[in-house]
Amino acid sequence: MTPNVAHLRCVICGAEYQPGDVAYVCPRHGDDGILDVVYDYAAIASTVDRDTVDESPDPTMWRYRPLLPVDPDTPVPPLRVGGTPLYESLRLADRIGVSEMWVKDEGVQPTGSLKDRASAMAIVKADEAGAAKIATASTGNAAAALAGLAASVGRESVIFVPASAPEAKVAQLLAYGATVLLVDGSYDDAFELCLRASDTFGWYNRNTGYNPYMSEGKKTVAYEIAEDLGWQVPDVVVVPVGDGCIIGGVAKGFRDLLALEWIDRMPRLIGAQAEGSAFLTEAWERGEDVLTKPPIEASTVADSISAGLPRDRIKAMRAVRDSDGAFVAVPDEAILEAIPALAATTGVFPEPAAATALAGLVAARKAGHVEPGDRVVIISTGTGLKDVPSVRRGVEATGVEPVRVPADIDAVEEIILRLEAE
Ligand SMILES: *Cc1c(COP(=O)(O)O)cnc(C)c1O
Ligand SMILES: [Zn+2]
Repeated sequence: MTPNVAHLRCVICGAEYQPGDVAYVCPRHGDDGILDVVYDYAAIASTVDRDTVDESPDPTMWRYRPLLPVDPDTPVPPLRVGGTPLYESLRLADRIGVSEMWVKDEGVQPTGSLKDRASAMAIVKADEAGAAKIATASTGNAAAALAGLAASVGRESVIFVPASAPEAKVAQLLAYGATVLLVDGSYDDAFELCLRASDTFGWYNRNTGYNPYMSEGKKTVAYEIAEDLGWQVPDVVVVPVGDGCIIGGVAKGFRDLLALEWIDRMPRLIGAQAEGSAFLTEAWERGEDVLTKPPIEASTVADSISAGLPRDRIKAMRAVRDSDGAFVAVPDEAILEAIPALAATTGVFPEPAAATALAGLVAARKAGHVEPGDRVVIISTGTGLKDVPSVRRGVEATGVEPVRVPADIDAVEEIILRLEAE
């Protein structure tokens, strides 16, 4: 039982369902009929307030349990998901030309990305559904997150990945002991196969933009930002966008807090995309209907945000429109250069998709979506260790190189003096 959930509501037709009555999506709308989890805020407010949360000794995402769609008694996985740092950076604020800036570092999550928040939720919901195995389709971080979280509770995971998936990401899955199915086909093929196989074998399905609870895990990043800022919301939050589940979750998190009157307004949400995978930016600029807009050919160095048909596009578009935000698209070169820019300015080390938040902020500032007086948070969604070759390319573009030295202290001293004089 999840006493704080009022119902699930289809994002297309608004039909309402009780959690036990539908498995994942609105039966009238098939795979596109993603459901929103609607809460009974009065019930939540009667059991918890900001002070209760502030005083919680739990440093993980589960400190917000009364605002999550889970039974109070279901155990949560032992890996520490959430509670990631929000670093203020005066240098970055200066560089961008805004009044205050923070970086939310999701690269320190147990498997290295924000996806852990959703996968932790999937483990709990699978437990409640009585499913022994959990499956997902993914090219990278969502799969790693599910495989790692499943390993932490001794559950089996089944991962469908396109055979073209990067070797390093497949290695992480195998290390966690997941059953990895390399699909001769695209991510879309993997997605379809995962839906069908889960249905046939009774596996719990974690697919992004399909399972309604994934946004509910991801929304905890918004709660943490608000709490860390003393419930004074920033003016702008910049989120890298592929399928659109993260930005939809961030919007949901702030909407919950607004409904509970723990914050007094929404921040403007800016979705940062790669130019080669800019479905939502295109739709936003042209005022297109995301439900009928045909898929695009996606290609970008930022593999975690490569999505020809963003699975959570309805929630993503709503997040930006309703918050008076914007979508921006940036070229791969800007994404690669943002990796060393963020790392050298703040010490936070991003993979390409994560660095897209910074590249997107620069573009948004130029386009006038962000103003000098704004207080801005960027979410660095995953660690640079996931994709070292791209880090290398980003660094090479800046012209910085290691210095070759002989194994001789006199020579080293001479070189150091010369470098210092430059
Ligand atoms: C998945 C992911 C994103 C994008 O999230 P969506 O929900 O697909 O929009 C961004 N950055 C990283 C590191 C990710 O793994
Ligand atoms: Zn519907």
